[in-house]
Formats: sequence, C-alpha cells, structure tokens
Amino acid sequence: MLVRTGLPLVALLLGACTLVGCAHSLTTVHWPRSTLDRSGLPTGMPWNDTSDLPNRTEILAGQLVIHADFPLAGQHRLVRDLETLRLDVSQKLGLPISDELVHLYVFERPDSYDAFAAKHFPHFPVRRAFFVETDTTLSVFAPWQDRIAEDLRHETTHGYVHAVVPTVPLWLDEGIAEFFELPRGEQGLHRDHISHLSGRMLEGTCRIDLPRLESLESAGELSQDHYAESWAWVHWMLETTAPRRTLLQNYLADLRRDGKTAPLSARLTQLEGSPSACTASVRAHIEAVAALPQK
Ligand SMILES: [Zn+2]
Repeated sequence: MLVRTGLPLVALLLGACTLVGCAHSLTTVHWPRSTLDRSGLPTGMPWNDTSDLPNRTEILAGQLVIHADFPLAGQHRLVRDLETLRLDVSQKLGLPISDELVHLYVFERPDSYDAFAAKHFPHFPVRRAFFVETDTTLSVFAPWQDRIAEDLRHETTHGYVHAVVPTVPLWLDEGIAEFFELPRGEQGLHRDHISHLSGRMLEGTCRIDLPRLESLESAGELSQDHYAESWAWVHWMLETTAPRRTLLQNYLADLRRDGKTAPLSARLTQLEGSPSACTASVRAHIEAVAALPQK
C-alpha cells in the first residue's frame, strides 16, 4: 500500500482535524521530505500490510484509484468532481497532467479510519483526513463524513500537485490545497479564511509577510493565521492579474526542475516593485474580497 519498496516516508500531509484538540477544521500537518528519515518513521508502518485498507470497491477515475469499504458508485458526483479537479489544478497552475496514480482510501465508518490511523500512524496527530507521499506512492486516507467532499478535494489536490512538483514549499502546498478544496464555481473564494483575516484586520493583528511563510518548515508551526494567509497569497496571485498568475506558474515550473529555485517573495518583489507593495496589494485584495456580496 504505502511503500512497497521499503523506502522512507517522505511527506505526510494531514487534513482537517475534528477529532482531537483542534478548533479549526482546516489545520494541516506536513512533514517535509528533509525532516523525515528512516529513524523518524512511525513505528508499525505497514509497508506490506494492506489487510485493514478499504478494498470492497475500487474505482479508477482518471489518475485516481478510489478504494472504499462500502459500495461507491463510479458515477457518484464526488468521484466526477475529483476527476474534474485534475484538469482544474493543471490549467490554473500551468502544470502538466500526470499519469502517476493517486490512491484514495475511503472508510465508511469513522471508527475504522480512526483505528487505521492509530495503528499505522500512532505518533501523528489525529486528523480528519491525510495525504501521504512516499518515494513511490501518493495516497489519501479519509472517512466518509459530512465534509468528505471538501476533505477529498483538499487532499487530492496535494496528490495532483505532488505528482508533478514533489518539492512544493509547505506554505504554498497548503495555500494551493485550500484554494482548490472549495466547490467548483467559487473561484477559490474561501469564506472562512476571508472572515478570519478580516477579523484580524479589525483587531490590528493581521500579519501579511511572505518571507515569514517561506521560513516555515514544519507543520507544527502552522497556525490558522498561516493557513489563511497562505490561501490569501495564492488567491491574490491566481485571481487578480495575469502577470501574477504567470509568475506563480513559472515558479512551479522552475520548482519542477530545481527544488531550490529562487523563492517566490524575491520574484514578486521584482514584479511589484517592493516587498511593501506586495503586502499592501494582498491586504487590499483581502479587503476587496471581504466586501463581495455573499452568494
Ligand atoms: Zn493540506
């Protein structure tokens, strides 16, 4: 299932948490490639044990292989939605379509999912869904519950992106997943993040600081402020001007070739004139989207 070759786990992105201790449903945890090695692997990782993975239904949907432990129709709207997401992510980010399979393991019962996560990832925080990247596989694990569509869009976005750009900076990885977790047609307008950032602005505690985001290396450092700000930078780049969108696309293309390419903040400073001009523009963008009428 996860690693057939016994190679080290390289990244684990944990999606929305509702089960323990986390007030915000969008909290995500990421173990970057550089922070994990063999000795850091969770004990009991079932490299060859697939017995408790969902296996009643298997659906091939484009790049996705969806495994469920209940009857799930291949024409289910969510399946089609996730298949469409592949093209949306590719087109919006200017990334090629990959044929690398992304496995989605969907548990009918939350307690089955909890037991699986506790058994195989005992040292990781409990989350509502998670994405695992190894040297050889891309996998998503999630229980079927009220917010399954949002959770699977978020985690599957990680899968589609990592299939072609394995070394995305943590903040950008999450900002992109937050953008695409929303239903199609909402142009990535994340109302929860907008209201969070608006509240911070009213309080005078809203910090917009891309170099700070770029310095984040471990998921444990990521707060709701970081998620909301990451989303805001991504939305600003993708939904305001063509040069900003192109800049993000070019950055991702460069990351594909060289994971250590010049950071996005340096490129944006060149485009916008100064770091303060970037920050002011993102702030203005947040205010503008906050003023949009609710659908
Ligand atoms: Zn995520």
